[in-house]
Amino acid sequence: MNEAATGDARVAWLSLGSNLERPARQVEAAVAALQGAAHTDVLAVSSLYRTTPVGGPPGQPMFCNAAAAIKTGLMPYALLAALQTIEAGQGRVRDVRWGPRTLDLDIIALEGVRSSDPRLTLPHPRAAERAFVLVPLAEIAPALELGEAGRVIDCLDRVAHDDIVAWAGP
Ligand code: ATP
Ligand code: MG
Ligand code: MG
Repeated sequence: MNEAATGDARVAWLSLGSNLERPARQVEAAVAALQGAAHTDVLAVSSLYRTTPVGGPPGQPMFCNAAAAIKTGLMPYALLAALQTIEAGQGRVRDVRWGPRTLDLDIIALEGVRSSDPRLTLPHPRAAERAFVLVPLAEIAPALELGEAGRVIDCLDRVAHDDIVAWAGP
């Protein structure tokens, strides 16, 4: 992957999540920040879902999750850096793995890019098993291929997701 900041624009599919400090507002603020990011346009945003925390410490609040598709001229690591800047701007602290957070922005897939680098793995290595990623993503990109795991809708068929409901709250 090229480290240059910009290249030909490609589509990226993102997972957005928050379970602290008015989660829905965090997700909405993140969408606005994505629209304001350099060389980037938001193409589609799913509705917001209330999801049960997966992994991490017990007793953490429910998550608000969504998915977005963007078109970006940022190269892969520049996109990751831009997302981490948005996370930091919304007070993201990394202490406990999979712990509560104001904002998590993960790249689920990036058009034409496969990567096994732990710093940026594409498609995201855990996306295909995560209902909280797949349900929102199925709304905007059901036929998106997640590597060997196959299409989003086929991955969704393989995971329990009845507990995922529309977000109602701040
Ligand atoms: P998970 O990746 O299991 O969802 P997380 O989102 O809580 O966990 P973070 O603390 O947000 O994990 O990120 C840890 C590291 O993951 C980041 O520093 C980043 O370099 C790396 N990473 C690897 N692949 C990706 C990806 N596809 N999207 C975002 N970050 C990634
Ligand atoms: Mg994550
Ligand atoms: Mg993350």
